[in-house]
Amino acid sequence: MSRIACRSTTIVLDLSALRHNLQTIRARLPQGTGVIAVVKDNAYGHGAREIAEAALRAGAGALAVATVGEALELRAAGIGAPVLVFGPYAASCVADAQAQGLTLTVFDRHQVDLIRQGLSPLLPPLRVHLKVDTGMRRYGFRSPDEAADAVRALRSLGRVEVEGLYSHYAAADDLDGDSADGQFARFQAMAAALGEAGLLPPVLHFSNSAAALRYPERSLSAVRLGIALYGLSPAPGFLERLGIALRPVLTLRSSIAQVVEVPAGTAVSYGGTYVADRPRRLATVPVGYGDGYDRRFSNRGEVLVRGRRVPVVGRVTMDAIVVDVTDVPQAAPGEEVVVIGRQGSEAITAEALAEALGTIPYEVVTRLSRRIPRVVVEGEADGPAAGAVGA
Ligand SMILES: *Cc1c(COP(=O)(O)O)cnc(C)c1O
Repeated sequence: MSRIACRSTTIVLDLSALRHNLQTIRARLPQGTGVIAVVKDNAYGHGAREIAEAALRAGAGALAVATVGEALELRAAGIGAPVLVFGPYAASCVADAQAQGLTLTVFDRHQVDLIRQGLSPLLPPLRVHLKVDTGMRRYGFRSPDEAADAVRALRSLGRVEVEGLYSHYAAADDLDGDSADGQFARFQAMAAALGEAGLLPPVLHFSNSAAALRYPERSLSAVRLGIALYGLSPAPGFLERLGIALRPVLTLRSSIAQVVEVPAGTAVSYGGTYVADRPRRLATVPVGYGDGYDRRFSNRGEVLVRGRRVPVVGRVTMDAIVVDVTDVPQAAPGEEVVVIGRQGSEAITAEALAEALGTIPYEVVTRLSRRIPRVVVEGEADGPAAGAVGA
């Protein structure tokens, strides 16, 4: 695609890694457990269409996003699989959801009213999943009675199919905490109460990546996989402690656009916050905070050139960084630069960048801009990653 050829900065998506991750997780789950691939926020910055298509081909049965807009983008891309919308919506979007066969979440009485207002009698039935709050305190009915009232109200509207019941963990990634036990028990109690009233929807799901990996026996009808699908750890050390080897799907790479030799005393980039202490070889790389490369990597970040770590010098700008390649004399325009990913025996992981920034890998990848072209590759033959444990 010409768009890709025009700019060297590219996100490379390794679909064999995605398949490996999905297979590795599925192998731990009870037979028949469904997988909902969570592709909200442009598939955690990876590229929603590319990831959605690959996840479905690899065996995911459904997709999930946060907003109706995101779901409609998937439909516009020709993706016909079930799409669950986690977040809220306006009454004016309910008919769109019906027309496009989306699945909406109902987490409060207010949303029953929105559906009542927006539902079209001329369109196919709207599918909904009920969400209950078991401890996250964000979205969800708080008692079985509230949930039961909602099911009755939705059923009375006609043209609504209450298909699912779900909840969300607050701290399943904390291997030293046990709050997930209490949340699961509350969910079981709510499901039992709905069941006694004859109001239990057929599809039950609760687990995010961390819970699916940690409590495979509690997977219910399906698990909702986000971060692990992308080969990233839900929390520092989480995968290692469970002995699970996943492979990062994403590489952010670019190439050197210009190389200059500068004398001692040369100031670099906005504000001249870096001044060369001796003659140096500097390379400009066209990736900046506009692409999602955090500005706090000014004078702090590193990228890979010819398998070596080289430092970012001066401020990160919107569209470019300058790196010091004094120790890589072969570096010339066109030379590959890896910003996130592996090159030779070195790697810069999203987890390591997150740690340097005091954030989580979710945020590091989610911030990668849509202006970066996405390229899919099949990668190496499927198989366990180097150092894979079990699987
Ligand atoms: C984002 C999200 C997930 C996926 O979480 P991961 O930790 O990325 O697996 C699952 N369920 C809900 C409701 C979410 O918002």
